Order: sequence, then C-alpha cells, then structure tokens
Amino acid sequence: MKRDTGLRRTRWLIPLFLALVMAGCIQPNPNALSTAEPADSLPLPEKLLLDHYRPVTIYNIPHTEITEARYPVIDLHSHPYAKTPAEVDLWVKTMDEVGLDKAVIMTYQTGPAFDSLVQLYNKYPNRFILFCGFDFSGYDKLGFGPSAIAELERCVALGAKGVGELGDKGKGLFYSKPTPAWGMHIDDPRMDPLIKRCGELNIPISIHVAEPMWMYEPMDSTNDGLMNAYSWRLDDQRDILDHAEMVQTLEKAVQKHPETNFIACHYANCSYDLTILGRLFDRYPNLYADIGARFGETAAIPRFVHAFFNQYADRLLYGTDMGNNPAMYRMTFRILETEDEHFYYHDYFTYHWPLSGYNLGDDVLKKIYRDNAISLIGPL
Ligand SMILES: [Zn+2]
Repeated sequence: MKRDTGLRRTRWLIPLFLALVMAGCIQPNPNALSTAEPADSLPLPEKLLLDHYRPVTIYNIPHTEITEARYPVIDLHSHPYAKTPAEVDLWVKTMDEVGLDKAVIMTYQTGPAFDSLVQLYNKYPNRFILFCGFDFSGYDKLGFGPSAIAELERCVALGAKGVGELGDKGKGLFYSKPTPAWGMHIDDPRMDPLIKRCGELNIPISIHVAEPMWMYEPMDSTNDGLMNAYSWRLDDQRDILDHAEMVQTLEKAVQKHPETNFIACHYANCSYDLTILGRLFDRYPNLYADIGARFGETAAIPRFVHAFFNQYADRLLYGTDMGNNPAMYRMTFRILETEDEHFYYHDYFTYHWPLSGYNLGDDVLKKIYRDNAISLIGPL
C-alpha cells in the first residue's frame, strides 16, 4: 500500500529527470540507480540497509485479534512509566481494557524517591505492586550492610513486596539508584546479609543478569540478531564477565540462599539456549524467571518455547518491560495465546525475522499469567 502511494506521488519527477539528462544537466551513473530515485520514496533493493527492512506479511493465514487476555494478568516486570496522577489513572484504564489485573512496578529506588512513588501509586493499592531497590551507599567501605538492611525493612513496611530490578551486565550491580555498585556482583559476600534478609521477609529479588547472547557475538554479517544486538552490544566492552560467568553469579547466589526466592528477568537472558535456564530450574526450586522483553527472541522458536513453557509452567512469570501501551499488551497476549504464524511488530522489535505464537494451553497460561505470581508474592 505504502509503496504504491509513494511511487504514484513521485512519478511526475521521472520525465523531469529525463529532460534534465537530455539537456546535459545531469550525468547519469549506470551504477547509481538512486540518482533517479526521488528522496522520499522507498530505497531500491540494492540500496536497502537491513536496518531499514520492514517486511509486511502477505500470507493469507489466521490473524487473531486479542483484545483481552484469557485470564486476569499480573505483569511481573514493569517500571514507573506513569509520572503523574493523571497518567496513573490512564494506565489503570488501559489495564481494564486489556485484562491486566495488576502490574508489578520495579522502582530500583529507596529513600525519598521510593516514598514518592508509593504516594503516586497508592490511589490503586490493588492494581500496583511496588518493588524497592537496595541502598548500596558505602558498599565499597567497611561496615556496609546494617543501614542497607534497615532501609530495606523501611521500604517493606511501606508496602514493597520485592526487590528489583537489580541489574548486572558484567561490571556489577549498576541498576540501583542512586548508587550503582560497580564491581559487586550478586554472589559477592557483601550481598549475603541483604539476600538473607529478603528470605526472612519473604520477598523475592528480581535480577537482570547478562544480555541476550547475540550482543556478545561479533557485529558482522553472521550475527543472527544483528540489528537489535548492535544497539545493545557488549562485544566491545573490556573487563566484563561474559555470558556464562554472569549466569554463574546468579547460580551461586541462588544456591547460597535457598530460603530466598529469585526472579531471573528475561529468562536469565538465556533465550538463545533455554536449556541453560531449564538446568537451573531443575537444581534450584527457589528460582523463577520472567519473560519480559524477550518476546522477539522467543517468538522466533515457538515450538521449542511451547515445550519449555509446558515443562516449567510453575516457574515462569508473565512480564512486559516495554511500556504500558494497550497495543503492546495485546501483542504479548497474541504471542502467548495463539498459533498465528509469520507476523511482525516492527515498532517493538528490530529483528528481521518473523514471529509466531506459542499456542500455550489454558493451564499453562493461567499459571504464568497469574497463579505463579500470587504464590511468589503472597496474597495480593
Ligand atoms: Zn526492566
């Protein structure tokens, strides 16, 4: 559609171009076909960058519109997207429209910043669940621990139901605000008292370790996930733990603290090889994973993912981590619930591959949409 309109709009330029060539004003270059190509039209294939490739599926196959999720959903991975009371109201309206019961807001915050988020969202205590951060001030000095624990307890008393999102891409736990803990990973002994206290308080720790594997691969024509990987590349970073080492930090912490529940964000960034996460699930009953922001990576392998969800239905949690737009929620429901094939969402994913639905069964959907979150966080 777009292509036709563009050409029609600019077709009048062609006779003008030919007239200029004949008048000798323009020297045609046989290799540069784009000189005849008006600036606002789509590029010719030989000039098209993979980065600009936006295919539109033409298959005449089922296309399922899902307006509302099959079960009332708890989103285990969102952030404080709403900044004003009006935006909070609008978010709740969207939640009602798409069938989202509750959203877990991972604030990263402690102190007054956490308190003001509690105030902002407490108009809807049944719709928003807040996680706090860890206060890492003085983490690099002797005596670190007691005041961080006191702050954690204060946040929990204010309603925090978990900690997160902690984040480490190889250089330390840097997501926490206002103090990033560079050089300190989740398995560091300095973390032990905090993690232990979370277990005693019965609150989970949500943690992002590593990044998808494509971001560690060379940025060249062999990189399967190149367009997305290049934006988030880690292959050019020196002195970072690699993917396997990062997963190992998570494993050590989970192993050391069997009384504390962990939520590995984004499938522990093992979407390229879910058997890594499967092995961790097999070993550690205190490990869960959210599926947020890895729909693009997993909808490329829907049959494998379907089997993985069936096998680990008690350990996976629905999450988004992609804003709070109704179309975004609906896209995730389509991917989870339907067996639609070969579709694209270029606004959300920069991969060049098409997506397909996982076609999850009712029992699995109910668990990952809702039941697992309730058993993890408690009565909500
Ligand atoms: Zn996140």
